[in-house]
Amino acid sequence: MVRRLVLGRTPGRWTPAVTESLLSCRKGDPTRVLGVDPGTLKAGWAVLERAEGGRVSLLDAGVIRVKGSDPIEVRLNDKYVETGRDFKGTLAHELLGHGLEHGVAKKKGNDFSYGLYRGDETGALLVGARVEQELGMKVRNGRVTSYLRDPEAYYQQNMFLAPAYALGLSLEEMKDPVRSLQEHKELVSAHRSELLERRKELDEAIKKDIKNKGLREQRGEVQVSIDTQDESLGALDDYVGALEGDEKLLERVRKDAESEQFKAYQKALDEDAEYLRKALYPPKKKK
Ligand SMILES: [Zn+2]
Repeated sequence: MVRRLVLGRTPGRWTPAVTESLLSCRKGDPTRVLGVDPGTLKAGWAVLERAEGGRVSLLDAGVIRVKGSDPIEVRLNDKYVETGRDFKGTLAHELLGHGLEHGVAKKKGNDFSYGLYRGDETGALLVGARVEQELGMKVRNGRVTSYLRDPEAYYQQNMFLAPAYALGLSLEEMKDPVRSLQEHKELVSAHRSELLERRKELDEAIKKDIKNKGLREQRGEVQVSIDTQDESLGALDDYVGALEGDEKLLERVRKDAESEQFKAYQKALDEDAEYLRKALYPPKKKK
């Protein structure tokens, strides 16, 4: 799949740029284009697809609005800061990653399973990075490199650092979602006592060295991690609760895990990872 991100140069006029981009793709290459009309108060976006046969269809579209009574610069900056990084990569992550794939999953009626699938977040991460790479930007996201190096270690680490990720299941784990979620919960809970231990150590160290800013910052980070764990474990319970006793839903998730559609989601993710591996770590030429 060729994916393109097109930013209109004139507000209100992304259509020509999008059409041009669709047409400039090699014939026979299925292509998706995210077009963005960069307005100040509202920015329109649309995702178009050109199928292998050449048929063009609108997959999804929407508007991003900036609200509030602060001056326009402040509002736009807030939006920008929220993303934490360059807007284009983030837009691609949100729109070509989550937005588009959720749209597809909803159409297919498997969006509940898709929400459980760990490739939802990771796929979006990789699409965002791939778009940055294709646009000639520097891919600086450490999570991308960590995934490319060792996917399983990445999933584990993510779960401990931000346990919201403990909600994500591999296709294999989705075959027994309740047990897998409970296992994740146990892993995260076990890690929690390590974190509490670490906080105690930090508290002791701070008592001895009251002025040490680094120690205080570290304690703050550990605390945030503990707090978000509580929230995330609650969310895990909600999911387990929604699944348990709902045989129909459970059956659906199990079936989805083995469906062609989910294999396709995984294949797209693997392709993006492969693309990025090649682009970011080109094999060294022999002398
Ligand atoms: Zn995301």
